[in-house]
Amino acid sequence: MTWDAIVVGAGPGGAATGILLAERGLRVLVLDRAKFPRPKICGEYLSPEASRVLDRLGVLKAVEDAGAVRLRGMVITAPDGTRLTGTYPTSAPWRGYRDHALAIPRLVFDRILTDRLRDTAADFHERVRVTDVIADGDRLVGVESVDAAGRARSFRAPLVIAADGRNSVIAHRLGLVSRHPLQRVALMTYASGLEGLADRGEIFVDPPAYSIANPVTPAVANLSLVLPLAHATRYRGRLDAFFDERVRQVRHLAARFPGLSREAPVQALGPLAYRVALPRVGGVMLVGDAAGFYDPFTGEGMFTALRSAELAAETAIAALGASDCSVPRLAAYERARRDAFRGKQRVTRALQFVIGRRWAANRAARLFERRAGLLDLLMGVIGDFVPPRALIHPRTLAALLRPS
Ligand SMILES: Cc1cc2nc3c(=O)[nH]c(=O)nc-3n(C[C@H](O)[C@H](O)[C@H](O)COP(=O)(O)OP(=O)(O)OC[C@H]3O[C@@H](n4cnc5c(N)ncnc54)[C@H](O)[C@@H]3O)c2cc1C
Repeated sequence: MTWDAIVVGAGPGGAATGILLAERGLRVLVLDRAKFPRPKICGEYLSPEASRVLDRLGVLKAVEDAGAVRLRGMVITAPDGTRLTGTYPTSAPWRGYRDHALAIPRLVFDRILTDRLRDTAADFHERVRVTDVIADGDRLVGVESVDAAGRARSFRAPLVIAADGRNSVIAHRLGLVSRHPLQRVALMTYASGLEGLADRGEIFVDPPAYSIANPVTPAVANLSLVLPLAHATRYRGRLDAFFDERVRQVRHLAARFPGLSREAPVQALGPLAYRVALPRVGGVMLVGDAAGFYDPFTGEGMFTALRSAELAAETAIAALGASDCSVPRLAAYERARRDAFRGKQRVTRALQFVIGRRWAANRAARLFERRAGLLDLLMGVIGDFVPPRALIHPRTLAALLRPS
């Protein structure tokens, strides 16, 4: 069997890439080391704009029918207790594909995507772990793998798409991964008793930590706590107790949810941020977390994976059609990705400055409290459908500077 492309990983990035390539008649092989459904540490929030890609992939209805909770916005509580209620803009000039975000357990969401992948002509193999790349001169021509029975096998194709998430074996083998100075860890669990959490997620900013609660079912919320890695390392093996104690210390969270009760063991992931350089060889593209990760505060990881899958598929189809998977040809994808995500990346970095400092977080909260329209605009940027430049529009800046 010969393939046009091998996709490594069947999370949101890999499954979406596999679906899009198969729909265009390409012979695609998708490999994942896991058997789905498989767990994934995540806040489980899907931005309103993610719905557009999900609809294109033919899974939006299945996701909605599976009980995804609709979120009209987020409530953000500042360190001084200021509560901001942000709502996604629903009128011109900015409207999302949907007026709401979605919250859905990854066990359910990733299963829906992989079921859809199975419905296409793509060849999808689970429990096959990619262990190495196969290179020929200045390009990749395939991957080495091992299956659940320990059998080693090589697969060859003119294009390898690395969608194998954080710790991407392909990005590591190509020497592209480096450390990020932002050293944070995320602790995540499910909790009940979060009364009043219905159609909005809640964020509690408490520098240097923050906590996010997303209602993933009517009864249970995804509860995560992000804090400096150094605070958690000594508690390895005692994560449940550490989490329970630290959540109680997050200002305003315990008071807001007195009946909070943890319903699952705590899982940890860190360091969260890492950098991935652009490939210097042909025959390879990086999609989703395999291309780098910063911080989950603004919840765009799955949208980024889905959108980068769309962009990668576009370039892949053109490159394979021209029998040219060289670095210059595939650079079209890197340019498209940069253009698509650069503005939001600037906003997320600015927000990191704010949420990392108590005085800045309190000052920003008071500013947004006076300007509800501005907060909703920010929600639209976070929701991936308002262009970040809208925040620096002269009219917005004038509103910011006007005394209240
Ligand atoms: C604490 C935390 C909270 C987050 N919250 C949110 C949120 O609320 N909303 C949001 O949009 N994003 C969130 N994210 C980010 C989001 O989880 C990721 O960005 C998203 O899962 C990326 O999708 P992906 O397909 O690139 O990678 P993944 O979902 O990680 O999928 C990668 C796949 O590759 C497979 N794989 C790995 N190695 C190999 C190998 N060697 N061989 C074969 N297969 C392999 C894995 O089994 C996996 O199925 C959060 C992240 C963290 C850490």
